[in-house]
Amino acid sequence: RAKDAGGGTHFSYEPALHAHAEERRQLEFALRRALERNEMLLHYQPVVSADSESIVSFEALLRWNSKEHGSVSPAKFIPLAEDTRLIIPIGEWVLREACAEAMRWPDHVKVAVNVSGEQLLDPHFASTVVSALAMTGLPARRLEIEVTESIFLRDATAARSTLEQMMGLGCSIALDDFGTGYSSLGYLRKLRFSTIKVDRSFVQGAAQKNPESLAIIRAVVAMAESLGVTTTAEGVETEAELEITKALGCNKIQGYYFGRPMPAFDARRLFAPGPNQARSGAAA
Ligand code: C2E
Ligand code: MG
Ligand code: MG
Ligand code: MG
Repeated sequence: RAKDAGGGTHFSYEPALHAHAEERRQLEFALRRALERNEMLLHYQPVVSADSESIVSFEALLRWNSKEHGSVSPAKFIPLAEDTRLIIPIGEWVLREACAEAMRWPDHVKVAVNVSGEQLLDPHFASTVVSALAMTGLPARRLEIEVTESIFLRDATAARSTLEQMMGLGCSIALDDFGTGYSSLGYLRKLRFSTIKVDRSFVQGAAQKNPESLAIIRAVVAMAESLGVTTTAEGVETEAELEITKALGCNKIQGYYFGRPMPAFDARRLFAPGPNQARSGAAA
């Protein structure tokens, strides 16, 4: 098509395309080696109960500090990892690492792990989860799998069956970023999610008194309650956002207001007996 177009179009358009493809190729090259070079790590963000404001779980969030590219945003490298299927070995590492870390927290605190469609549809996914639990000793009830609505677009039957297997093990399933994607209520009826995570965009809107955002959160909370599902408000940053999400009945709160994603050491320290002991004794 570029050949048929005018010469100007042809020459101004192609170098940019090449530069973009080249950057992506470089990033993929680095991503292939990221695990073996120990460039990946997990940060943990607290999720608190709306009633007591005590920590009920942590969400594990992947971080990549590349030697060549510096700190790369998950928004950039997760899609690349999905396209190249590198998300399979990376996701396996995430599961093991997160389960191992959760063993250092009190028994009532869960760990939530994000899982992409590629992982869920991989035939080895179930055995990956089973072995992560077995290797670390984490009880399945302490592992929550976070998926987005997009997993149901490709192969809803396969996705559902894998999630049912996870539930059979005793894991819980959370529906992430609810309301942002292709929202069909059909799968809410077919699958027993334990949590619906209300996307940050609605939380922001609600605090700004945006009528649509308010209506959507109200509807999601009402529906969740009638289905026996809990709700988590995502991305709560301010007092106003905390107040409105509590008033609308969200059960759990996650966001910068209560804590940013933090290194494992800092998350662990939140459970240490006191500030002084925490500093000297956390390594024990
Ligand atoms: P997510 O699962 O919806 O995770 C929540 C995102 O919101 C995280 O971004 C978190 O840092 C950010 N966040 C939390 N609280 C606030 C807040 O109060 N304000 C704002 N502005 N942002 C907040 P992050 O860490 O950049 O991750 C982005 C996405 O990358 C995640 O969205 C998830 O879809 C994906 N991801 C992260 N780690 C993994 C992983 O291990 N595996 C897979 N498959 N995907 C992952
Ligand atoms: Mg998530
Ligand atoms: Mg989310
Ligand atoms: Mg979100």
